[in-house]
Amino acid sequence: MNIRYIKGVGPSKEKVLNRLGIYTVRDLLYYFPFRYEDRRDIKQIRDIKEGETALVKVKVVSSRLRPFKYKRWWKGAVKNSIFEAAVSDGTSMARCVWFNQGYLKNYIKTGDELLIYGKFKVYKGIFQVSSPEFEVLSAEDNFLNVGRIVGFYHLTKGLRQKFLRKIINYCIDNFSNDIEDPLPYYIRKQLNLLNIYKSLRSIHFPNSLEEAYNARQRFVFEELFISQILVYIRKAKYHLRQSIPLMNLDKLISDIENNLPFKLTNSQRKVIEEVAYDLSKAHPMHRLLQGDVGSGKTIVACFALAAAVRNGCQAAFMAPTEVLVYQHFETLKKVFKGFGFRIKILTSSLPSKEKESIYKGLETAKIDIVIGTHSLVEDMIKFKKLGVVVIDEQHKFGVAQRALLPKKSSPYAAHCLVMSATPIPRSLALSLYGDLDISVIKELPPGREDADTIWVDESKREWVYSFIKDKLKEHRQAYIVYPLIEESSIEDLKSLSRMYDVLKDEFAPYTVGVFHGKMKPHDKERIIRDFKENKINILVSTTVIEVGVNIENATVMVVENPERFGLAQLHQLRGRIKRSTEKPYFIIISGPNISDNAKKRLEVISKVSDGFKIAEEDLKLRGPGDFFGSMQSGLFPAKVSDPLKDISALKNARLLAYRVIKKDPYLKESCHRCIREYLHYRMNR
Ligand code: ADP
Ligand code: MG
Repeated sequence: MNIRYIKGVGPSKEKVLNRLGIYTVRDLLYYFPFRYEDRRDIKQIRDIKEGETALVKVKVVSSRLRPFKYKRWWKGAVKNSIFEAAVSDGTSMARCVWFNQGYLKNYIKTGDELLIYGKFKVYKGIFQVSSPEFEVLSAEDNFLNVGRIVGFYHLTKGLRQKFLRKIINYCIDNFSNDIEDPLPYYIRKQLNLLNIYKSLRSIHFPNSLEEAYNARQRFVFEELFISQILVYIRKAKYHLRQSIPLMNLDKLISDIENNLPFKLTNSQRKVIEEVAYDLSKAHPMHRLLQGDVGSGKTIVACFALAAAVRNGCQAAFMAPTEVLVYQHFETLKKVFKGFGFRIKILTSSLPSKEKESIYKGLETAKIDIVIGTHSLVEDMIKFKKLGVVVIDEQHKFGVAQRALLPKKSSPYAAHCLVMSATPIPRSLALSLYGDLDISVIKELPPGREDADTIWVDESKREWVYSFIKDKLKEHRQAYIVYPLIEESSIEDLKSLSRMYDVLKDEFAPYTVGVFHGKMKPHDKERIIRDFKENKINILVSTTVIEVGVNIENATVMVVENPERFGLAQLHQLRGRIKRSTEKPYFIIISGPNISDNAKKRLEVISKVSDGFKIAEEDLKLRGPGDFFGSMQSGLFPAKVSDPLKDISALKNARLLAYRVIKKDPYLKESCHRCIREYLHYRMNR
């Protein structure tokens, strides 16, 4: 039922509630308090100390409405007024004052009994409470705001706690019976969870904090359970779709290894086997590959791409930046040397003629593998027989973008591998990407040394420069990274080129190059090539080099104003210099006056090198809302559950959801009808 039909909600209040995402009675009842205050304990005024916040039960001795003395222009009785009430509870007196709430004179009358909750302060020798919450006591009153444990809600302009409590209470009394419990009875029984009516009352108007807690746990479970049901429904759908099974992969692994200058790590081998197993199935792979920066994910991608081509299909490899696309192209050429694969690049900056010939090649299967940026998902692009899709640095793409590429494979569904260097703990991955199977590369290639991370401030700049010079003498190369938030901002680019001029002089005769996202593709390519060949010794850059750039000899990185970066980003940047067995050095030069939170981030990056741990710290520092927001999970957003704290509830929810969908994939059994109806409700709103 729409909230506009609730007693007391007029059109203006309806708009205000809509702003909070509340449209229906159900939304309203699921708008939970974020904290509680215990207002059961009624004090005697005599016992209250100066500055104490207390609840008292009093009688109004006298009251009056008066203007502010100093407001000469005071005209009406309502604006710029003070409403005062002298009250007594038999033990002592106090004065209550409310500013600019002249209408209170209609509510609070001499002789009334009131509950008052507020902070008591001595003012001009008398106990005074400013703008206390109050409730006029009367026989039919149900005391929502005082004399009990009271919930507090996040508000928005034009909304008051009291109003919310009132309409929520009204809806619980009148409509909660119309709301069907989304949790099946047998599951509630099994887990000892309260039913929805009791839980709604308890979470809004609990009789004890324990009761509120139990109710919250029930809703946490409900939220996780429903999200996991969706996950398994999605998985079941994948299972129903047909893919082309990709066979004879053992030989492919050894063919690829023959082309590599190194041996695969055990972790890589294991993950490749997991992928091979998925690919051999007649329904599509949906796998997330996690692995720290530099753990060697690209080779796993190569394997999946090649598996398609060897089985007469095409493959697409999507990466977030052009630099990365070109780099992958080079890698693929080496890894697939002698395989006879026809590989093409597609980015938005190609001349349209070339683009068209690629479109054609894909449609007629004259191209086996295409590597590209998000331009791969454009409408014009059609594949003859797309067998495998790999998405690199998947967190850089939106949910919708990610979903588009595999759709280009009809009538068969493509096998899909998404890769991420923002590793997160397994339990979190499950709640975020629950519909994906997960593989993890746990180790870095042998001989990789952790970077020495050195955190300095401006006063050490000279030292930093001389350190870089020492490394240049040893024929190493360095990055200097600037935090340009807006790459498109002309101001920012100007300051980058000013820095470039300064650094050119500082480091002469060494060569300094500059690199940023707004450069022409052709120039980008040239700069990266020159850096790779050590014709450029120092690369001054924005964070475009954050993803993927792979230059083994560059082992020093300086980051200016690291406080402006997030933890994940700093970790990615540091990953750029851990590309060989040479010792890497990561130097961060923080600016003045950095926030506490930024300080904590820099401490973490200085001490921790493991990407999984960093992700966990990141999550703690940012809070799940922010963290998950940036992850674009695509599952529906968590409102009550917290992925860090509710891990055991998640495990339970996942297991039970799995059993439900396994037994009853269409939710047809009568005991599961409640789930289906709830999903139906969610989808139709
Ligand atoms: P990421 O996981 O960050 O994408 P890459 O796939 O780019 O990592 O690999 C990083 C570097 O490590 C590349 O230069 C790659 O050639 C190298 N590499 C990958 N696997 C191994 C291995 N098993 N042994 C040695 N070097 C490897
Ligand atoms: Mg990579």
